[in-house]
Amino acid sequence: MRTMKALVKKQPGKGLWMEEVPIPEPGINDVIIRVKKSAICGTDLHIYMWDEWAAKTIKTPMTIGHEYMGYVEVTGAGVTTVKAGDRVTGEGHIACGHCRNCRRGKKHVCENTVGIGVNIDGSFAEYVKVPSENVILLDNRIPDDWAAIMDPFGNATHTALSFNLLGEDVLITGAGLIGSMAVAIAKFAGARYIVASDLSDYRLDIAKEMGATIVVNPAKGEKISDAVQKLGMRGFDVGLEMSGSPKAFNEMIENMYNGSNISLLGILPSDFQVPWSDIIFKAITMKGIYGREMWETWYKMEQMIIGGIDLTPVITHHFPIDNFQKGFDAMENGNCGKVILEW
Ligand code: NAD
Ligand code: ZN
Repeated sequence: MRTMKALVKKQPGKGLWMEEVPIPEPGINDVIIRVKKSAICGTDLHIYMWDEWAAKTIKTPMTIGHEYMGYVEVTGAGVTTVKAGDRVTGEGHIACGHCRNCRRGKKHVCENTVGIGVNIDGSFAEYVKVPSENVILLDNRIPDDWAAIMDPFGNATHTALSFNLLGEDVLITGAGLIGSMAVAIAKFAGARYIVASDLSDYRLDIAKEMGATIVVNPAKGEKISDAVQKLGMRGFDVGLEMSGSPKAFNEMIENMYNGSNISLLGILPSDFQVPWSDIIFKAITMKGIYGREMWETWYKMEQMIIGGIDLTPVITHHFPIDNFQKGFDAMENGNCGKVILEW
């Protein structure tokens, strides 16, 4: 049996292990991709750290990872859309294709979603197996580094473009790995003012480079309401919640304009006290966001990159794959943007 190197969650507990595992065989509609670059997602960090969510969700041993780019190595007999040698990335959510949502064109909310690198073997490996429908052929104007982070760029795109941004004032709470990309998208889509909050100055510096008008660090006693006043606004037209922090959520509600819109990407705890009456009296519309729309989000991403959006500041670290530990240490420490591991 031919084997390959893969970063495996071998057993419960903190850590990841570089193992030799069998190279995946393609089914009739599968594509085997030779991975060139892998990025570390917040989800991978949860699995590495082995928190409550990971312990409940991940079946060990499993190869993790779902942010990557590479080249098609082999295709199953039924694959007609890509061929060996094509430069590709992939959508990490595999939709079933037959539930009600799939059949009405809303695959991102498929009832039976399977996550690559979460429910089945992922892309921190020399080769990853992906259904051909999930393979995205890359335009040659998309750099390798950016191709490797299209999954989280897609979360940012889906969240940011859920409401009209042209001429609007946008608040982004949580300028982390995804929030900082949302700053660039809001700017690209024509927002007037973009205010971003985060507890880390390192990340706020990235948000500034990505185009934030004002950044706010609540950990240093800075207030979003001061930014509103400074910019002479009545409140924000669009809120993008990307921290998962109830505190940030409450600050957002306090600073939204009447009749405004909010997209919720950050995973908020289910049991916190939501200021419902403020939401109701301000007539705020809220939308939960899951994953990326298949395939409209991918189209918008491609067009933004070809059109000149700059994601450079968000990628802060590169390591060879054998130094993966350094990458996870950077993620754990938090003084980083996107971390890319190279095969
Ligand atoms: P991240 O950890 O890089 O970013 C979150 C940021 O929020 C951090 O930089 C942190 O400092 C900041 N933060 C924490 N408390 C804050 C506060 N009170 N005010 C302002 N900022 C605060 O995570 P990420 O990868 O960018 O993901 C963002 C969120 O989206 C996470 O909650 C993640 O779990 C969630 N997520 C959801 C989906 C989905 O499909 N809904 C997909 C991916 C990620
Ligand atoms: Zn489905």
